Amino acid sequence: MTRSDRQAGLDKLNTRVREDLSYLTLPAKPWVPRQSYKGQAVRDVVIIGAGMCGLAALAQLRLAGIDNVVAYDHAAPGLEGPWITFARMRTLRSPKTLTGPALGLPALTFRAWYTAQFGAEAWDRLDKIPKEQWMDYLVWYRHILELPIENEVRLLDIEAATDDLVALRLEDQSGTRTEYARHLVLATGRSGLGGAYVPDFLDGLDPALWAHGADEIDFGALKGKDVAVIGAGATAMDNAGMALERGAASLCMLIRRKEMPQINKMTGIGSPGVVHGIRYLPDDWKWKFYDYVAKAQTPPPRSSTLRVSRHPNARFYLDCAVTGVRAAGNRAIVETSQVPFEVDFVIAATGFRNDFFERAEFASIAPHIKVWGDGVYAPDMGTPHRFLVDSPYLGESFEFQEKEPCTCPILSRIHCFNDAAMLSHGKLSGDIPAVSAGADRLMRGIAASLFNADREKQFEALQNFAAPELEGDEWTDSTPDLKPKDKIAS
Ligand SMILES: Cc1cc2nc3c(=O)[nH]c(=O)nc-3n(C[C@H](O)[C@H](O)[C@H](O)COP(=O)(O)OP(=O)(O)OC[C@H]3O[C@@H](n4cnc5c(N)ncnc54)[C@H](O)[C@@H]3O)c2cc1C
Repeated sequence: MTRSDRQAGLDKLNTRVREDLSYLTLPAKPWVPRQSYKGQAVRDVVIIGAGMCGLAALAQLRLAGIDNVVAYDHAAPGLEGPWITFARMRTLRSPKTLTGPALGLPALTFRAWYTAQFGAEAWDRLDKIPKEQWMDYLVWYRHILELPIENEVRLLDIEAATDDLVALRLEDQSGTRTEYARHLVLATGRSGLGGAYVPDFLDGLDPALWAHGADEIDFGALKGKDVAVIGAGATAMDNAGMALERGAASLCMLIRRKEMPQINKMTGIGSPGVVHGIRYLPDDWKWKFYDYVAKAQTPPPRSSTLRVSRHPNARFYLDCAVTGVRAAGNRAIVETSQVPFEVDFVIAATGFRNDFFERAEFASIAPHIKVWGDGVYAPDMGTPHRFLVDSPYLGESFEFQEKEPCTCPILSRIHCFNDAAMLSHGKLSGDIPAVSAGADRLMRGIAASLFNADREKQFEALQNFAAPELEGDEWTDSTPDLKPKDKIAS
């Protein structure tokens, strides 16, 4: 297909999206009364993060007539999320058929976008979605829905302006400013409520000798070098694949487990039941599910693993827990439960963690956020995995809850729409499969909260509404003609 054929296909799809929305009378008419605070207009909702979850949330809120919303992202346009920044896989792990952020609209799916440009046969031939194409799709989604997003804006700080108004300190190229919002959605991604998890044994090690798997890494500089990758997840394989392709002399995968996990358990039972049901499980059952999944672990994708193992200079060492890393000249000695390894560079593909205290922007709210470790988790529920114990204990629409009642009421207006919500809500705000269901749950909660908070104004609007449906000339009143003993024949 030529570029102009592709553009023509996309133009057709754009028309279809607009038509579908108009058939559904979407977006709904705006219905939230405007507010101001200290002479400044207040946003109904501010979303931090314009990755996939931020986009889906923004779109769903606008379709529901909550139009006084905006999303801010500190990344440049088209660079939001991991896809073309630190994601080092070639394709998505997810099957191409997932409907992702389409919000129930067929014309908004990746399939519609892809088929419009490349045709149905190309779609049939497509195996997995190349990550660059997924990013292109998200950029298209943003434009066709005319989503109000400002890039290169960073959230610096959150404060309670009042009990029900969030003050956000934001920074962009022109400086810092404060904005007010009635609801704040943190769609800040996998590292959104903490950061990279770095094992203690890497603390203090010369940064020239190691990096986290999500860091920017100069893979070109690893040509001819001996590299160790700690971990066996998808990120571990992707980083190893990159290092090998850029000419690493040797690469060892240091894997703590005795066996590689082979079965993707939670994906295996994926169903609308899981999507809508996890939230309503008793807490001990939620723990039981995610404890089991954490123990079983998620295998790296087959293609990513083959990308590594096809290199003769790649080695997999299982049952090989790293116990320490130290510098020896300009090399690193990696102590393990087997033998020490001497390498030039270590990549720690050790994941992320939930630690609000790690992020300066959450400093004022972090001490008040209730987590599962605050009396919800009990030892008889299962293993106390640190990332689960530190997970926020969220309310119905992803809102934070207070550790101590009445100490930080603004938390009920701050919604944790990112990976950290998994234990409370299931995977509705982190991965592609159920993000539309998550956006819908979030929107319903925010819509209900806004309506309830504005009930006096909404009632006033009810009273003031005076546009007649009947004009008074459609009937005549026969009551005055009634005589006391008249029998009315029907
Ligand atoms: C390497 C890798 C591969 C993955 N592959 C898949 C896959 O195949 N299938 C799948 O379902 N999932 C995959 N995931 C999970 C993936 O992260 C999510 O599907 C998707 O990115 C989630 O979208 P998100 O909006 O929650 O987070 P992100 O896409 O990470 O977006 C979060 C955004 O928030 C912004 N942000 C954060 N903090 C601030 C701040 N203080 N101020 C302003 N902006 C801020 C960031 O710039 C970022 O753009 C992968 C993740 C990684 C890391």
